[in-house]
Amino acid sequence: MPGKQRSFTKITQITKADSLIREALSLQPVPAIYILEVTNRCDMECTFCLNPKFKPKSQDMTMKLFNKIMRESIKYGAREKIFFTAHKGEPLLNSGIIEMLSLAKKFARKVHLDTNGLSLNPSLSKDIIQTGLDSIAFGLDGACQETYESLRRGSSFKKVVENIKNLVELKNKAKSNIQVIIRVINGVVKRKEISQIKKAWSGIVDTVQETKDDRKIWKNKKIFPCLSPWSIMMINPEGDVYICFMAGDPNRVVGNINKKSIRELWRGSDLNYLRDRHLKNRFENLQLCQNCNYRQSKHSLDFSFL
Ligand code: SF4
Repeated sequence: MPGKQRSFTKITQITKADSLIREALSLQPVPAIYILEVTNRCDMECTFCLNPKFKPKSQDMTMKLFNKIMRESIKYGAREKIFFTAHKGEPLLNSGIIEMLSLAKKFARKVHLDTNGLSLNPSLSKDIIQTGLDSIAFGLDGACQETYESLRRGSSFKKVVENIKNLVELKNKAKSNIQVIIRVINGVVKRKEISQIKKAWSGIVDTVQETKDDRKIWKNKKIFPCLSPWSIMMINPEGDVYICFMAGDPNRVVGNINKKSIRELWRGSDLNYLRDRHLKNRFENLQLCQNCNYRQSKHSLDFSFL
């Protein structure tokens, strides 16, 4: 009886993390979360951008490829989230963006768009709101023109601020539920200025998010399980699938959507090897994961920040 009592206590003590891990480790036929790079083109030259490092061919994702991703990913059940990233290019520069957002919204539970906001005119804002998009995040690294334009070269602080405020006004008029987020990169922008950004935008946008200070995470040295290989697929404009969303590197591609199905790539040997290493907690041949900050952040458990 005391033994039974102990195991009962153990079961009731299962943490949220445990249940998330168990759920995610049962490999689904296709990923639940898609991170899409719909273009490699950009209208800014930010000092911290990854694009110059990898020098990708300037290209937009075609509607044909986007439709293929949508069709295949829905075949095996509902998608959790589609995330239009501004990782290596500005998504609003893809002329098919409104059609893509509308289509994504038809099937996924949540659709999110990252943008630098420079090319967001009033007509585009209206169209975006009408797609039913769940959230939009603007990269606004600076509380003033001087900081912002020194980091986001080729941009205009005045114009971007005007564009964000205009979208918020249209959102309020339309009584839309779209979440408007300002994102600031901690480390790129000084702490004092982040506080000024938060103050300036409080009551205007829904949230001001700052990316985590990696140095603090490293200091803790606490390792969390990473669920990315069981839940996320990142695809570039050409249809290349990266081994992980942290590896936007052309050398870390596991295959191409134009040649293989999402299901084949998701169940392929490269991703299975990655999963195996994670399950065995062995990263000696996997430098990518060895030094990854996500294993040292609670985000690695649920990716709810995406
Ligand atoms: S540990 Fe980092 S690099 Fe490795 S799979 Fe997870 S998110 Fe990707």
